[in-house]
Amino acid sequence: MTETTDSRPGEMGCERCRAPYLELLAASYNDADRQPLHQLLVDSCVAQHPGGGDPRSVRRLSICLMTLCMVVESDADPRLGPRLHRRMVAYGGFRPLEPQPSAKSLHSRLSAADVVAAGDTREYGELLTAWGSEMWDAWSDHHARIREWIDRALN
Ligand SMILES: [Zn+2]
Repeated sequence: MTETTDSRPGEMGCERCRAPYLELLAASYNDADRQPLHQLLVDSCVAQHPGGGDPRSVRRLSICLMTLCMVVESDADPRLGPRLHRRMVAYGGFRPLEPQPSAKSLHSRLSAADVVAAGDTREYGELLTAWGSEMWDAWSDHHARIREWIDRALN
């Protein structure tokens, strides 16, 4: 995981998600069967906790929504995440997505607490994929713009 894809739970400021997310992160680092989906885990959590308008938060949200889009809509391999993020960061030009979905609406959907209950690798993959799809849907007002960013950054 590179600096650009890092999602520091300490910055998340979400009491409800911090503990289960930390547990999921640890399992994702330590379990070879989970590692291929690591980017989807980070992207889903960042999409649910978009942060403020400071450049670092804006950049993190932008690149995570872009890879989330590619994984959910185009079946991209989450393992490409760090490489894609480096290209996106090199392209730059990030702008805040306004208005953001509210924390309340983002938390009316699946969250880390639901995914942490997964019993095995298969169930983990299913729950994580469902979480990622719901988070992508939550940003539907901005889909067109995010797809545009992907085109510009990668073409
Ligand atoms: Zn949360």
